Amino acid sequence: MAAIEKPTGSDLQELDREHHLHPFTDHKELHEKKSRIITSADGVYIFDSDGNKILDGMSGLWCVNAGYGRDEIVDAAAAQMRELPYYNNFFQCAHPPSIELAAMLQEISQPQFNRVFFAGSGSESNDTVVRAVRRYWDLMGQPERQTIISRQNAYHGSTVAAASLGGMTPMHKQGGLIPGIEHVEQPYWFGSDRSLSPDEFGIATARSIEDKINEVGPDKVAAFIGEPVQGAGGVIIPPDTYWPEVQRICDEYGILLISDEVICGFGRMGEWFGADYYGTRPDFMPFAKGVTSGYLPLGGVMISDRVADVLIDKGGEFHHGYTYSGHPASCAVAIENIRILQREDLVERVKNDIGPYLKKGWDKLAEHPLVGEARMVGLLGALELVKTKEPMERFDEKQGVGTICRDFLVNNGLVMRAVGDTMVAAPPFILSYEEADEMIEKAWKCLDLTQQAIA
Ligand code: PMP
Repeated sequence: MAAIEKPTGSDLQELDREHHLHPFTDHKELHEKKSRIITSADGVYIFDSDGNKILDGMSGLWCVNAGYGRDEIVDAAAAQMRELPYYNNFFQCAHPPSIELAAMLQEISQPQFNRVFFAGSGSESNDTVVRAVRRYWDLMGQPERQTIISRQNAYHGSTVAAASLGGMTPMHKQGGLIPGIEHVEQPYWFGSDRSLSPDEFGIATARSIEDKINEVGPDKVAAFIGEPVQGAGGVIIPPDTYWPEVQRICDEYGILLISDEVICGFGRMGEWFGADYYGTRPDFMPFAKGVTSGYLPLGGVMISDRVADVLIDKGGEFHHGYTYSGHPASCAVAIENIRILQREDLVERVKNDIGPYLKKGWDKLAEHPLVGEARMVGLLGALELVKTKEPMERFDEKQGVGTICRDFLVNNGLVMRAVGDTMVAAPPFILSYEEADEMIEKAWKCLDLTQQAIA
């Protein structure tokens, strides 16, 4: 097909189908339908090429935390691109936005974090973590410490190293794995047989890390990585006992703790970082997404002093970096985005205002016959769809109830995501009370529609 000048509507769908390979997509299935073309956005709403207005209950891909249509961010990017659209941070150079952002990140993170290494995405950030962790132990004279312990159903990205760190088996089956990664049980109480109390389950799943350390050999384990709340795995909020026990284990065995803050960071949980929420003291915090509210790509890794000092003092050159490590426009956007979060007190708003407000409505959704559990922390929530509540019985996965519900939702003007039969949401921090009410009303209505459709 010849290229069409500024294609619109169905022309776009046709071109998309012919030329565009989408991330995490079954193209055969997509081509039987058509992709939805999102053409513009404002506040918490996105608009598609059919003229639909849809409340974005997912903040894009868990990232547009400050909301759409922020002229200040656009202006910051444009100004930076005029001044210096690109320069690298290699070869003993730097530029003002990468430096300013590095200093800003130090201010909003825990005291052990004074240094940041920039990347372009969450996946690249986690690749950086793997290399830096192993490099650290080499420099400490313990090169046999190679193993990184992660969890089943974790998501840490899609590059080979990040996918290996993650615990998504369908990803593991495609394209190969790096060695030296072990996976332990996730703290997913609702998904367990629920024979233990949530608190007991939190301790038990944390102890599976200890068991793994002893199985691999304590002198061979380099680090443990976890998302404070597993996002892509289904917004799995661990029992309160989990993270303190993980911290105890990391301390006792002297292994590094990596808190993957790609979703939880920058206010999603009502604190700057998920580690602040749970009171852990990580050595590494990979981040991305919310650092720029998704306006431009940027990732990075905060590295604790005890690690960074060794890398710097003993390491010589660290043979690692990306063309876009600390891209000037991305950094300028991040700076403006963090200023907005600060100026408008948005992290506090998630904690004490819109977060609790939405949670009240969210908790009510648990009264729906299809909802076995409604959970939310900050602006990160999940609904577990179940066949029966007593006894709690889940649907046969093949029935695709979550997908049916998700399709009703988007067709009724609300984006939520289905992770199996777990419906997840993560709206922008600027969500108003009225918009929160709209989310709850639409969710209830679509739960009704789902129930009717599967009856
Ligand atoms: N870590 C976590 C916790 C994530 O949720 C994601 C993305 N969803 C990533 C890493 C990977 O980030 P990216 O897609 O930017 O590579």
